[in-house]
Amino acid sequence: MNSQAPSTIPFHQPADNPVPLIDLKPQYQSIKQEVDEAVQRVFESQGFVLGEDVSNLEQEIAHYCDSRYAIGCASGTDALILALKALDIGPGDEVITTPFSFFATASCIERVGAIPVFADVKPECFNIDPDAIAAAITPRTRAILPVHLYGQCAEMDTICRLAVKHDLVVIEDAAQAIGAEFQGRRAGVLGTVGCFSFFPTKNLGGAGDGGMITTDDAQLAERMRRLRVHGDAGRYEHLEVGMNSRLDALQAAVLSVKLRHLDSWTQGRQRNAGWYEELCENENLEDAIQLPQTLPARRHVYNQFCVRVQEGLRDAVLNSLREQKIGCAVYYPKPLHLQPCFAHHGYKKGQFPVSEKLSEDIMALPIFAELERSQIEQVVSGLSRAVRSAREQNAWKTGRKAA
Ligand SMILES: *Cc1c(COP(=O)(O)O)cnc(C)c1O
Repeated sequence: MNSQAPSTIPFHQPADNPVPLIDLKPQYQSIKQEVDEAVQRVFESQGFVLGEDVSNLEQEIAHYCDSRYAIGCASGTDALILALKALDIGPGDEVITTPFSFFATASCIERVGAIPVFADVKPECFNIDPDAIAAAITPRTRAILPVHLYGQCAEMDTICRLAVKHDLVVIEDAAQAIGAEFQGRRAGVLGTVGCFSFFPTKNLGGAGDGGMITTDDAQLAERMRRLRVHGDAGRYEHLEVGMNSRLDALQAAVLSVKLRHLDSWTQGRQRNAGWYEELCENENLEDAIQLPQTLPARRHVYNQFCVRVQEGLRDAVLNSLREQKIGCAVYYPKPLHLQPCFAHHGYKKGQFPVSEKLSEDIMALPIFAELERSQIEQVVSGLSRAVRSAREQNAWKTGRKAA
């Protein structure tokens, strides 16, 4: 996933990696014929931007999320920017969001000239804490931008109640959460606008960048549709300056094929999560490794399977897993309020302690749908070895300090 620069994303793990963090090849192999035919069809048509493939996908995504409208765009980042622009959020406005997310969650706010105001997350689900949101609301607050992190929805009932009370809009960053549910409703229809990403490592990933915005608001939908094509209302009549953020027909064609398989892939991810639970319990890893919890009334779609490692052991465990050639990564190693580009807002270390602590303890393990049970067994036994060696190193270090 993209906590690293896109060029370093590990699509293709070394062949000797017994369990890569993510491997997109088996998924492609399983649907190769369908995908190749769709791609061929777009090439034959030579219609590459927007068009019928994109409008079909828009309808399919709207149906999948149960939203009235869906608007394709060039990326998840652009989806967020288009939503903010269409809601007239700009200079002087404050948008409350989480400091524990992928960078784009906060950068989109900065990009429209508004101010990202952070509210800390809850340790049990890693999502934004509604109490912290309430405490951060000022007369300049215009929007709340919760993230459904790793594929589990934020506490949307409380968040929407706050929004209604203070006359705010809610923009869902659902980039990691297509198909996730809260109280039986899908991510993307829980707020005013939902923003999705089709980056290849997301649960519904294209053959490049892509994004989608969902909403039930007709006027907002129309404005976002216009903003993605330079604000063109038709016949080169520009009511406002927009962006060039269109979805490619090739992406839409591939995504339509993949959407048909999304629920079975989600079941695969959920089955893998269940295996982790069973196997970690057998290995007595509870003290060292805290598995992610699914909160009540949620459908977790596990874009990532992030565990918390016992205090002080995370980096040693990571190193050991890497030596054993077991895929692992840290999402996210630095909370957003501590990013140099946001320093001018005056955020300080210590201000969002839960996010800061999570960035030191969190670790992602392989969860992609095509993993076999034997591979999850390998990860868990590797994890067991990693924990033992990390504890030995720690004991040695502590012993040295005491001496
Ligand atoms: C991936 C992601 C984005 C950005 O999506 P892109 O398509 O890469 O621009 C935004 N927010 C979150 C939480 C993400 O995971």
